[in-house]
Amino acid sequence: MQLPHRKYKHTEPVFEAGNLAMLSNAIASEAGEEGPSKALQIASALQTTLEIDKLIEVFSREIQDLIPHDSIAFENRQQDIQVAIGTKARHACSYQLVVTAQTLGQLSFTRRRKFSEHETQLLETLICSLIYPLRNAIMYKHALTAALTDPLTGANNRSAMNSALIRETELARRHHTPLSLIMLDIDKFKSINDTYGHLAGDFVIKSVADAVMECTRSSDMLFRSGGEEFVILLSNTDRQGALLLAERIRHTIASNEYKYGDQAITVTASLGVACFHKNDNSESLFEKADVALYTAKAEGRNCVRYADSA
Ligand code: GH3
Ligand code: MG
Ligand code: MG
Repeated sequence: MQLPHRKYKHTEPVFEAGNLAMLSNAIASEAGEEGPSKALQIASALQTTLEIDKLIEVFSREIQDLIPHDSIAFENRQQDIQVAIGTKARHACSYQLVVTAQTLGQLSFTRRRKFSEHETQLLETLICSLIYPLRNAIMYKHALTAALTDPLTGANNRSAMNSALIRETELARRHHTPLSLIMLDIDKFKSINDTYGHLAGDFVIKSVADAVMECTRSSDMLFRSGGEEFVILLSNTDRQGALLLAERIRHTIASNEYKYGDQAITVTASLGVACFHKNDNSESLFEKADVALYTAKAEGRNCVRYADSA
């Protein structure tokens, strides 16, 4: 199968009046007198959503009668965006979308019948109408992600944690699935700041987050809940699994080397583990882990403790 690979570049705003005219002219050859209204209809439909998958779906639907296709896909690996609609067929047409030096991603169409030269030309004009709404949708997704991410560690922030805790406790209650929470606090962190400085402290916080991420699976959720405190939410994980993971994290943190400039810093953390019980809500689960963490601190630090109360 030959996959035509076209690099599609667009550097000027698309929906200047001239460009809308360009789109309706191109459509006129297919839709006749309805060209202008069809062009306007496509442009308006693409303004109705900021969600990337919905936008691709709308675009696919709007152009289906002009360029029949079996599947459409959009991918931007760097930003973790993947949209695929329909069933892939033999003939493909693929475009690398670039706008003002920013790569938006790859847009691909497939179908059983070959795409004619005339069709690909029309498709390229139609894509003009998608580029700016798509760029807006990508920027919107980026802003949403940034609002829920801790900039120092890349972990989810406290605001993300609050919604995830409510969502996951509800899911665990409804589906009777296990849910565990690990609360982690770096030991004697104030003295790390006092001895090596605040920037070294930041480096330690980031290194600890990296160590936790190394130990966890992609389904585990890591949150920076406060200054040198983290929460790890483990869906579908029971007490035994959570305790094993907490011990692995503790061991990894204690045995890693932390070199800031030529300073070697010793770092340990204490961890509290709690499991969801049917009487729990997000707050009580959080509090149980907090009590377990307090016990770990009181019993000498650099250890894992479990909240016994149901
Ligand atoms: P413990 O073993 O009982 O947890 O002792 P600790 O010193 O870690 O606990 P404490 O809560 O007394 O100290 C936490 C310190 O973390 C105090 C605060 O100045 C510092 N801190 C909070 N956020 C940040 C941050 O973003 N960067 C740095 N470098 N320090 C921070
Ligand atoms: Mg603390
Ligand atoms: Mg601490």
